[in-house]
Amino acid sequence: MSTNITGRFAPSPSGRMHLGNAFSYLLAWLSARSAGGRIVLRQEDLDPARCSLTYANQLESDLLWLGLDWDEGGSRGGLTYYQSHRSELYAHYLHQLETSGLIYPCFCTRGELHAPSAPHASDGTPVYAGTCRALSSAQRAEKAKLRRPSLRIRVPEREIAFTDGLQGLYTEHLSRDCGDFILRRSDGVYAYQLAVVVDDALMGVNQVVRGRDLLSSTPRQLWLQELLGFPHPDHYHVPLLCAGDGRRLSKRDGDLDLGTLQAEGVSPEAVLGRLAHWAGLIDRTEPVSLSELLADFDWKRVKREDVTVK
Ligand code: GLU
Repeated sequence: MSTNITGRFAPSPSGRMHLGNAFSYLLAWLSARSAGGRIVLRQEDLDPARCSLTYANQLESDLLWLGLDWDEGGSRGGLTYYQSHRSELYAHYLHQLETSGLIYPCFCTRGELHAPSAPHASDGTPVYAGTCRALSSAQRAEKAKLRRPSLRIRVPEREIAFTDGLQGLYTEHLSRDCGDFILRRSDGVYAYQLAVVVDDALMGVNQVVRGRDLLSSTPRQLWLQELLGFPHPDHYHVPLLCAGDGRRLSKRDGDLDLGTLQAEGVSPEAVLGRLAHWAGLIDRTEPVSLSELLADFDWKRVKREDVTVK
């Protein structure tokens, strides 16, 4: 079977892969491969302070250890599949948005942005109050002497709704729930929201499978796609794996990272069995192969709710 689905793995190489990451990649892989689709690997290493090539290479080995292969990108595709080497492309599309008059410099400090009185978006980030929206050119020039600005995009009073393949209908009001958001940080690093939209479009990605924590980013990304004339991919936001205290699994949970599991002698099939059971794809935790999972993969069987795993 062959379809035109192109999915992707988009890891941030800032640590060893943990089971939460592997859970999303497994579902992304099953979704694309069960439909005869392709997969692109893109290393989201925009933040030089957090990401490294060592982790990027390790992520590739961990994906392959699990049997999760891809067709294009990563180290096999060369530097163009590392976001840290794609700044010129982001600059190009940022410039396109600038010509529409929607971009403005923001001089607010972290402290100002995180004031306790600021309203918060559903992902916990403060909704920007619009402080620097209406500065005059003279005020901007004055402030620029003291501080390098970030660049924000002015969002409209508009509700964006979409149907997620797993979570169903999701709606956000851009100005009330998100606020004007950053496209380039004050240190010159391009923001995730811009990079992901540009890359998914240029890499031909039309199916995005990722953690539910990014559900609230999607309306912003759909709107950027619209502004830039890019197509909208389909989305599936998968449950998060959480620790007993309710917080989502992170790179801090070293006991559930693939390095520790491999050192303990756990087999790839045993890891796949745990992931597949949490996803709702098999009834019990028992070793399973990718080909068994592929044979009867169906999004209808995948759970929507987060899973407590430790
Ligand atoms: N790089 C992001 C992460 O690892 C994922 C971004 C995305 O899937 O859009 O959390």
